Amino acid sequence: MHPMVKPALRRGWRDLNTVQFGMAPAHAMVLGPMDTATGSFLDLLNGARGMPLLREEGRRMGLPEGHVDALVERLARSGLLDDATGGGAAADALRKKKGVLERLRPDLASLSLVAREPGAAVDRLAARRSLRVQVRGAGRVGVVLASLLAGAGVGEIDVRDVGRVEPWDVAPGGLPAESIGQRREAAAHRAVRRAAPDRPLRASSQGTSSNEEDKDKERGLALVILTPRDGLGIHAPDPAAAETLIASGTPHLYAGVVEGTGVVGPLVLPGDTGCAGCLDRGRVDRDPTWPRLVAQWRSGRQRQVPACDLPLAAGVAGLAAGHALAFLDGALPSSAGARWETSVPGLDWHARPVWSHPACPCGASEKAKGERASEDGEPHETMAEQRPHAARLSGTWRAHV
Ligand SMILES: [Zn+2]
Repeated sequence: MHPMVKPALRRGWRDLNTVQFGMAPAHAMVLGPMDTATGSFLDLLNGARGMPLLREEGRRMGLPEGHVDALVERLARSGLLDDATGGGAAADALRKKKGVLERLRPDLASLSLVAREPGAAVDRLAARRSLRVQVRGAGRVGVVLASLLAGAGVGEIDVRDVGRVEPWDVAPGGLPAESIGQRREAAAHRAVRRAAPDRPLRASSQGTSSNEEDKDKERGLALVILTPRDGLGIHAPDPAAAETLIASGTPHLYAGVVEGTGVVGPLVLPGDTGCAGCLDRGRVDRDPTWPRLVAQWRSGRQRQVPACDLPLAAGVAGLAAGHALAFLDGALPSSAGARWETSVPGLDWHARPVWSHPACPCGASEKAKGERASEDGEPHETMAEQRPHAARLSGTWRAHV
């Protein structure tokens, strides 16, 4: 182990023997009491030395026997310590690709704030390289989102769409002006490749494939992101379009722009959280005229160029990519069972719940009922994971150690 105080957190002394790691309350931590000698020793915990050398340095600085081990242990317990040589075989392989790791360094630093154990951040970053994500829809939102995921180290992004690039598909970070008139899918794949810090581990598929091949591919997907170019597809997602995703248990996330409103969510964990079918049934319950409206919207073909504010599309792509990555990294983002929405010109985000519906065949409602029945049992794992976030809202500091 080569201990390293997480470089993502800027250090400051609150008084002579209390040190604060980090500036922003979400991840900041206060550690004390700490004497001056120990404080200056922190500078040596930069990943350049292993434990034997650190113990030697400690002796030279006059620190008591066992002090260095105790300090390292204490920092690790507080989630402040990383290991410059840590992680498994995939992490080692990533470290050998110096250029790739240099590109991903800020992402690694950010991951170190949520992955507490030494070496866990690089493990998660390396794990992204073996993931396959499909993005369905190569418009202003879809291609930027796909490029963000590729740039953040996700190994394989398969973008699906039909037709050719229209002038209004072009977006900074997405399809370039040179791609106008080219096949949308191929142009999107090129944009994604340009954004990636590395060649994909496996070659992305291109061109048309049979239905059977499509089903085969769905099985290995960690996540499917639906980014329809037509606003109706995000405002009223068609449950039929997600049937195979529900049946195969494939997690999927909706993101897009409808008129002047951006939408991120729901992230559907089939059988666990509300899906497009639940959303649709809930709307029919609340508004009996909903099906009549949807039928009219679906019957007319959209001939106009759909409204899509460019910064709004970028915001939607960014938030959706963030939620997707959080999920791929093992957390449960707040779009599970909810839709985040924002509208021009105010652009304040708010979440609307997507309740699981008892009549929906996805089964999420049954599951929720079962969980409510066993209220005396252990708290649900995802709830336990969310608790620290709730706690964080109430206090300035996550913990005083
Ligand atoms: Zn459902």
